[in-house]
Amino acid sequence: MDQTVALYIVPTPIGNLGDMSSRAIEVLQGVSLIACEDTRHSGKLLSHFGIDTRTTALHDHNERARAQWIVEQLAAGQSVALISDAGTPLISDPGYHLVSHVRESGFNVIPLPGPCAAITALSASGLPSDRFSFEGFLPSKEKARADKLLALKEDPRTLIFYESPHRIEHSLTTMVEVLGGDRQVVMAREVTKTFETFLCGQVSEVLEKVSRDPNQQKGEIVLMVHGFHLSDDEALPTVAINSLKLLCEELPLKKAAALAAQIHGVKKNALYKYGLEVGL
Ligand code: SAM
Repeated sequence: MDQTVALYIVPTPIGNLGDMSSRAIEVLQGVSLIACEDTRHSGKLLSHFGIDTRTTALHDHNERARAQWIVEQLAAGQSVALISDAGTPLISDPGYHLVSHVRESGFNVIPLPGPCAAITALSASGLPSDRFSFEGFLPSKEKARADKLLALKEDPRTLIFYESPHRIEHSLTTMVEVLGGDRQVVMAREVTKTFETFLCGQVSEVLEKVSRDPNQQKGEIVLMVHGFHLSDDEALPTVAINSLKLLCEELPLKKAAALAAQIHGVKKNALYKYGLEVGL
């Protein structure tokens, strides 16, 4: 195959080998070298597709050093492909330093489209997909996790998290505490695999199902959270919200909500509820 000399970014299946594209196989066969997160893990995938290209390890601990060596391969006219253990490289996976170094060095970087757990799960979640924010993994320490969620609490976009099965219960619990038990979430587990499951509902309901059923605490998980929104009858003009925030600097929330409601002719309860939701 005639290939432009480049670093190729090649997604691989997230569970179902049928999702390997013919172009991915062609590129992996055609390059001189494949950089893998784990050469043993990827060796199985490559041999399944009859690809015998040389591999080299590129992971979080050696990426910067390896990047220079890979640029030297490109300079010698050798194309290189980057794969990760599963899905799209660089998406909660190594590759960022390599890609930026290859670009800075003036070589082509050619991406192939393909499997990515976040996008695949989002597409079937039923949550708004016009705007979303991919947040990777939540911190494992409780305080850091709560702080991160607090910072995202009023984000109107759908939030996408990767989660490990042994932390899912903790993360859902922190979500109930920080975002409120009625926030809509979708937990996508084992996407593209035999036990693919989507649990949808209020975060308190999903937490209950997960706590009750140990099978829900197995496998790989994408957790998606509906963005912050007020219901139609609670929608508030920005000027009223701004007044409420200012008044809250001097007054208790109840009093501030009553005054702001009078000034702007909006419902006192809606302002009060908003204040509680955002922690004024
Ligand atoms: N680069 C990968 C991608 O494009 O999706 C993600 C790599 S990240 C290290 C691995 C995490 O992705 C898992 O812990 C899980 O949260 C999510 N994930 C990967 N495969 C999945 C699947 N089949 N179903 C649900 N989540 C998955």
